[in-house]
Parts: sequence; C-alpha cells; structure tokens
Amino acid sequence: MTARLTGSTALITGSTSGIGRATADALAGLGAHVIISGRDKARGEAAVAQIRAVGGKADFIAADLLLSSGARSLAEQAAAVTGRIDILINNAGIYSFGSTAEVTEEAFDRMYNINVKAPYLLVGALAPHMADRGSGAIVNISTGITVKGNALAGLYGSSKAAINLLTKSWAAEYGPRGVRVNTVSPGPTYTPGTQAMGEGAIESFTVGTPAERVGQPHEIASAVAFLVSDEASFVHGANLAVDGGFAAV
Ligand code: NAP
Repeated sequence: MTARLTGSTALITGSTSGIGRATADALAGLGAHVIISGRDKARGEAAVAQIRAVGGKADFIAADLLLSSGARSLAEQAAAVTGRIDILINNAGIYSFGSTAEVTEEAFDRMYNINVKAPYLLVGALAPHMADRGSGAIVNISTGITVKGNALAGLYGSSKAAINLLTKSWAAEYGPRGVRVNTVSPGPTYTPGTQAMGEGAIESFTVGTPAERVGQPHEIASAVAFLVSDEASFVHGANLAVDGGFAAV
C-alpha cells in the first residue's frame, strides 16, 4: 500500500527538537520527503539520519528565523530540494513568560519575529505556488494559552493569537485554490524546550485539566499528520486543540 503522503514534500520548521521533530518523523513515516529545519546543524543532521535509517526521505536546511532573510532563504532552499513544497508546518517557536513591564523591546521583537513574522514570510513565499498547483496543506502550531488571560503570558499568548487569526485569513485567501490551512494548539508537552523551563514547570500547567498529565510530542504530531492528509480534506481554518483539555476548562 502506498503511504498517504508519498510523493509530497513537507517543510517543518523547528524540527530539530520536540514537537517539530516528532512531526517530521510522523510525516516521513507516511511517505513524505521531509525538510528538517532549525539553527542547530548537529540536531538537524541527527534527525535526518534517524529518518533515513528507517527508509524515510529527509534533508536538513539550517535557518535562523529571527531574521527575515533567514525565512526567505529557507523558503527558497526548501523548494529547491524536490522542486516543490506541498506541506508547510509552521512549528518553530519560542516561549518565555514574564511581566509586561519587564519584557525588553528586544525580547518583544524576538518573539514576534520568530512566532509571527517568519510564518508570515514562509506562507507568503510558499502558499502561492501551492495555490498555482491547486493543492497544499499548511498547519500552524499555536498554543492553548491564547484563550486564557495569563498574567505572565501576554507576549507569548498574543503572538500565537495572531497566528490563530492568520490561519483563518490564509484559509480564506488560499482555500479556494486548494490549499488547506489549519492550526494545532498543543497543551503542555514534554520537549527539550519545556524541560529547560525547570523541574515541575511544565507539569504546573496541567493542574485541573481533564487529562491531568503532560503530553508527548508524538500526540501532537499525529494531529498534524491528520490535518495535512486527505482524511482532513474538508477541514479549513480549524483550530484543533491537542491539549489534554487545557483550553476547555
Ligand atoms: P523546542 O523543543 O524548544 O524546539 C523549538 C524548535 O524551534 C527547535 O527545533 C528550534 O531549532 C526551533 N527554533 C527556535 N528558535 C529558532 C530560530 N531563531 N530560528 C529557527 N528555528 C528556531 O519547542 P517545542 O516545545 O517543541 O515547541 C514547538 C512549538 O510548539 C512552538 O511553536 C511552541 O510555541 C509550541 N507549543 C509548545 C508547547 C509545549 O508544551 N511544548 C505547548 C504549546 C505550544 P534550533 O534550536 O535548531 O534553532
């Protein structure tokens, strides 16, 4: 049987770690040629080697999405690997928490450059080509915290709230030409990024949630895999919470 994504090429940003890496593994497992990206060459090459070792197709392109030039160059280089990008996962993201008065202008710009501007530039560079071909799928990785007022998460939450609206705007813009754009909003998930927040930090977000536990990256990746597959052919502009019920209560 041919795997569901055979013949397609997927660019997953931030796939040297955590949710992005699990997503790359999942899409490669479904037959996609995956483009791994991030700043860290060693982690990127390790991800590529692991996918190739089990018969998958993968390449690594280093990119710093803090810079507009990094996003533009990633789009160009990624499209050159097989000649097309059919699937774009805007996963690379940073999260930090703090009071509004303490956030520096530099930290503000960093958050918005990586979490909002880079996806915006990547969609602008890649979605028109998908639309010209009449097919494509984009998934933006957001967060459940966008639906809550959290005293220390205004900056991070607002950057992802922007992505939530952009998903709907892009669904309206590109959907009529065959490109489906959706959001996945993870809840607290074990990743190298959240482990670095310190002991007990990620667990603290699960208190009172229906699942009462932290998620694993593969649980987020399987939702992304569904949304980019033909099984989600009628799903446009949706925001799928994969969060153990974090946003529901
Ligand atoms: P992570 O383990 O910290 O990994 C972040 C990824 O983003 C890495 O691959 C990193 O690659 C890349 N990245 C960071 N800064 C970059 C830059 N300047 N240029 C290019 N790539 C950059 O993160 P994660 O926990 O898996 O989170 C992934 C996404 O899920 C984020 O958008 C996050 O906001 C969202 N999310 C996570 C959780 C959670 O609990 N984990 C919950 C809700 C939403 P390099 O280090 O190689 O550059």
